[in-house]
Amino acid sequence: MSTALTTVLLVEDDPAEARKIKDALAEAKDPPFSVEQVSCLSNAMERLSAGPVDVILLDLTLPDGRGVEVFDRIYQAAPDAMILILVETDDDEAVQVVVQRGAHDYFPKGTADSRWLSRALHYVIERKTIQRALQNSEARFRTISDASPLGIFVSDTVGECTYTNAAYQKISGLTLDQALGTRWSLAIHPDDRQRVLAEWRDAVRGVAPFQTEARFLRSDGSVVWTRLNAAAISDGLLSSGRVQIVEDITERKSTELELRASERALFEEKERAQVTLNSIGDAVLSTDLAGNVTYLNLVAEAMTGWSRQEALGRPLEEVFTILDGETRAAAENPAQRAIQENQVVGLESNCILVRRDGFESPIEDSSAPIHDRDGHVIGAVIVFHDVSAARAMAFEMEHLAQHDFLTGLPNRILLAERLSRAIGLANRHGKQVALLYMDLDCFKNVNDSLGHAIGDQVLQSAAQRLMANVRDTDTVSRQGGDEFVILLSEIEHPQDAALIADKLLAAFALPQLIAGHELHISLSIGISIYPDDGVDAETLMQNADTAMYHAKSGGRKSYQFFKAAMNRNAVQRQLVESNLRRALKEGEFFLQYQPQIGFASGEMTGAEVLIRWQDPENGLVSPAQFVPIAEECGLIVPMGLWVLREVCGQVKSWLNAGLPAVPVAVNISAIEFGHKDFLEEVTRILRETGLEPKYLEFELTESVLMHNLESSSLLLHDLKAMGVKLAIDDFGTGYSSLSYLKRFPIDTLKIDQSFVRDIAVDADNANIVSAIIGMGRSLKQRVVAEGVETEDQLCFLKKQQCVEGQGFLFGRPVLAEDFARLLVPGNNLMPC
Ligand code: C2E
Ligand code: MG
Ligand code: MG
Repeated sequence: MSTALTTVLLVEDDPAEARKIKDALAEAKDPPFSVEQVSCLSNAMERLSAGPVDVILLDLTLPDGRGVEVFDRIYQAAPDAMILILVETDDDEAVQVVVQRGAHDYFPKGTADSRWLSRALHYVIERKTIQRALQNSEARFRTISDASPLGIFVSDTVGECTYTNAAYQKISGLTLDQALGTRWSLAIHPDDRQRVLAEWRDAVRGVAPFQTEARFLRSDGSVVWTRLNAAAISDGLLSSGRVQIVEDITERKSTELELRASERALFEEKERAQVTLNSIGDAVLSTDLAGNVTYLNLVAEAMTGWSRQEALGRPLEEVFTILDGETRAAAENPAQRAIQENQVVGLESNCILVRRDGFESPIEDSSAPIHDRDGHVIGAVIVFHDVSAARAMAFEMEHLAQHDFLTGLPNRILLAERLSRAIGLANRHGKQVALLYMDLDCFKNVNDSLGHAIGDQVLQSAAQRLMANVRDTDTVSRQGGDEFVILLSEIEHPQDAALIADKLLAAFALPQLIAGHELHISLSIGISIYPDDGVDAETLMQNADTAMYHAKSGGRKSYQFFKAAMNRNAVQRQLVESNLRRALKEGEFFLQYQPQIGFASGEMTGAEVLIRWQDPENGLVSPAQFVPIAEECGLIVPMGLWVLREVCGQVKSWLNAGLPAVPVAVNISAIEFGHKDFLEEVTRILRETGLEPKYLEFELTESVLMHNLESSSLLLHDLKAMGVKLAIDDFGTGYSSLSYLKRFPIDTLKIDQSFVRDIAVDADNANIVSAIIGMGRSLKQRVVAEGVETEDQLCFLKKQQCVEGQGFLFGRPVLAEDFARLLVPGNNLMPC
């Protein structure tokens, strides 16, 4: 107890009693008292209003107040003071009342001696202090308990609630009033209650400590997860109840549940990924940031030859050994690149994976970086697969696209590629490139006479011969048809190309035995050299081609280097010219006869002879293609004489054979007509063959006649006099002056086929045709419509009173022997 001075207010009107008490208290030392005395209620009130005192000794019988009323006023004025009543012996009843109202104790008056009074005061003060301390402690406990986040539920010995703190009320949703007198298990969720009570019973029996987790179910239906602890409260040895500590663990629990759910999801995800990775056809391998293997799926295990256990932690290069398919050098590690560049990267194409046992397989792959949650690269994954089949297919496709299917040689596409590459290399190494453009002489002849199957074999055999005579590094390609090109890369001199060309010509000089035929197939070779004859592939090809034509025109079986002076068209013309000369010499020309029909009888009234050229190389060539060239180079003259002699001989032999031969029209070109010996030659041929001139008709175009009017007119009259007939071919296309025409002794006008073609639909043409017919009739000339192909045309011509025609409708040009069969008296050639 405090030894501080205890202030005492003595309210006593009896001076003797007051003296006694003051004396008694004055002696007290422990604690010392400071006593003030008043003798009436009003003084007491005045004193108390001036400041507090610790103890009030109160006489209930005062001059200005009595009994309970005095106590009430004092108590009101000093509620914290300890009030002790000084009672008269007959005051029992009043004493009872004031003690109930808050008085702390009472003393009978007159009994106070110094020792007793101070001790009695001392006890009262001490009790009061303890009581205060208890109250304070309880208040402190409540404050602490209410501030605690843990719920507190206190129950008495029979288990009924005597106290709950604010946290408990919050957790359980039960107010203190609702909880008081209830049992602690009331708040527990019915689903958990049985379990919790069982655990509780075990704990009470001392089997296990009571600590559990359970849900509280609030009256609003919400659920709170709690952790429960219980402890017994004992008053000394005896239990006076229990306290339950309730912790709200809802948040932790839901985090825990979430964690468990995400753990489960993660597990399932991992499992799914694992199954997927092992069931896909691709190999999958991953590494950490340092490039060490962290994972392999089953396919990767099979393809690398490393099991996952063995591979884990090893450097990627050891497990995933890859080479560049071309150079065989170690290929770049794609995982490292993916990590460095932080992006998906593809593997170099043409990559070879070397299995642990050395087996190699071509692969294709890509690699991607792996990131952690913060987006940092933590490794890489490589996905790859065996592309043997795909690559074989790609090779096959590439081969097909770049090679000729018949000979298996590179085609023009591959050649162009190699030529460009060869040019690049030669340029860098200061070398030259040669292109040998080749054409098989007279191949067409072989194809036409022996068939395509043999033609194909000839090409294959030619390919073999070409290949056998060049280096492996050179390219022999087929351009199409019978044309081949050889690319000689990196030659020192053009002479190297000449040597090869000589070798090839010698090889082709030997006959080829194909399907039992001994075939002599020679070559013509044109050579162009890079860089002298062109710096790009296209120019080099063109120039080699031109040089080849030059070689052909120079008499075949030879080679020619390209010269700047060579012009392809000129060369080609030269080639045709030399071919024509050969044709004349070798008898490659032949004649066909086309009948002319009289519409009235349907019988043949004449014929036109047309020249044909069977070129061994190019096949049947139309006169429109070679006659102009023959005219240009003058060859038309001997050619025309050959025709004339043939025709005269032929007609003569038909006549001799007793056939009703008809006059045959021969086309005479301007050059022939203008040739000084023309008349003489005609005369000689007629004489030599013995043909009567009336069987011969000369077809001349308007332009020929108009060219030199005087001389033409003279010649025409001479021919006419001789008995030869004269016709104007392609009439209507020239710009003939009718007055001159009248002066020429013309027998026949041949309406050009261009007018006949559209006769039925084109009014202009129809008019021209009827004008020509009218003109012919007035000049008493025969009019022959050319190129009659249809019944409509025939019909129109007939209506216009045209009486003769020539055209496919009546008969195509045919060989002499076929034509002879048409020469039958009364043979009607009109279509029915
Ligand atoms: P051309 O003298 O006008 O000969 C008629 C052309 O018409 C021939 O063509 C003939 O085959 C063709 N022809 C005949 N009927 C029809 C038909 O119904 N429809 C069509 N679309 N065409 C028909 P070819 O044989 O090609 O001769 C073309 C030209 O070559 C001749 O025209 C002639 O100018 C010239 N030619 C032909 N043979 C000789 C010859 O021996 N010497 C000379 N100098 N020139 C000749
Ligand atoms: Mg003609
Ligand atoms: Mg004609």
